[in-house]
Amino acid sequence: MSLDIKKIRTDFPILNQEIYGKPLVYFDNGATTQKPQVVIDEEVKIYSHENSNIHRGVHFLSEQLTQRFEDARKVVQKFINAKYDHEIIFTSGTTQSINTVAYSFGERFVNEEDEIIISTLEHHSNIVPWQLLCERKKAILKVIPINDAGELLIDEFEKLISPKTRIVAINQVSNALGTVNDVKGIINISHKHNIPVLIDGAQSIQHGKTDVQDMDCDFFAFSGHKLYGPTGIGVLYGKEKWLNKMPPFLSGGEMIKKVSFEKTTFNELPFKFEAGTPNFTSAIAMSKAIEYIQAIGLNEIADYEKELLNYATEKLQSIKGLKIIGTSKNKVSLISFILENIHHYDAGMVIDKMGIAVRTGHHCAEPVMQRFNIEGTLRASFSFYNTKEEIDKLYNAILTVKQMFG
Ligand code: PLP
Repeated sequence: MSLDIKKIRTDFPILNQEIYGKPLVYFDNGATTQKPQVVIDEEVKIYSHENSNIHRGVHFLSEQLTQRFEDARKVVQKFINAKYDHEIIFTSGTTQSINTVAYSFGERFVNEEDEIIISTLEHHSNIVPWQLLCERKKAILKVIPINDAGELLIDEFEKLISPKTRIVAINQVSNALGTVNDVKGIINISHKHNIPVLIDGAQSIQHGKTDVQDMDCDFFAFSGHKLYGPTGIGVLYGKEKWLNKMPPFLSGGEMIKKVSFEKTTFNELPFKFEAGTPNFTSAIAMSKAIEYIQAIGLNEIADYEKELLNYATEKLQSIKGLKIIGTSKNKVSLISFILENIHHYDAGMVIDKMGIAVRTGHHCAEPVMQRFNIEGTLRASFSFYNTKEEIDKLYNAILTVKQMFG
């Protein structure tokens, strides 16, 4: 079934506007996605009629919203096919989710001279928390290298594994290059050595179906705002067997069972990891975003975005002096590129003046840029609400850039 893109676009009010007198072309979906009206309406509805702090009241509004918050958790559970709803922890986003594991798992399971494996492809938020853990524990960070296409070298990964490896943390999709990693293969290899795996799903969750049980990952992190939901909300999925063994990360209200000055005992899952008032409004609105994309169809979204990727790759490749960075066989709808003798910021600024939003810079993945010996790239990341006509506009804008600076 093909998607009715014209109709879909009317669900996103922000798309219907002009920037510098030109219709907005939004190609910065890797940074954040736009919000459908149902998500915006949900936030307005909650603040207009339902707002009340959850979990703590016996009054009507509090009980009602608590139920809606817990229903949102079940929506997420089904969406990623987690076994239990208490394996779904609401966080502020991928960054907090990864920090929770790096701190809490690290506290319990990582000791001096232990090893942690990440990859060259990681976003800073899947590098720095592990570096800090290594500093705290005097542990060692090892990094899976990539080839010139931007693909992980699995043979090298296997060589990095040792009896001291405590956890592997990699993304499913690289935000800088669009590479889709063979996470199932990596999890399989890791589990043969009894090593748990955290998957950073910030750039994969919005592009197709996610099944954490089938993948068999031990942890999975993602952000609501990259999934057509609100900012300030995200998810940490963790297998119950790990979460139960891990100490709390943040502490305060709601995560306790009993507090006295002598001793505090901790609440059960998932509340042990949800200290303080959670972002219940956004958790509920995020569940509406999930329902929205489920209604469109995750497979249909993946197919259409693949079509956009192929179309854009062919067009951009035909431009002389344009080099695509990241040419993996398996990619999501994201193209990173550089222009010969033209700085990406200069190009980005000209493209912006044509109403086209692309991202420029290192994309919070400096080690990827170092690997390719570049300072940064231009990145166009496409969503199911984008069109081939918009890609044509980007193509023409790049030709103009070349004319101006060439
Ligand atoms: N991981 C990847 C692969 C990302 O692309 C991003 C954001 O761009 C993050 C983690 C961090 O996400 P957030 O800033 O929503 O916490």
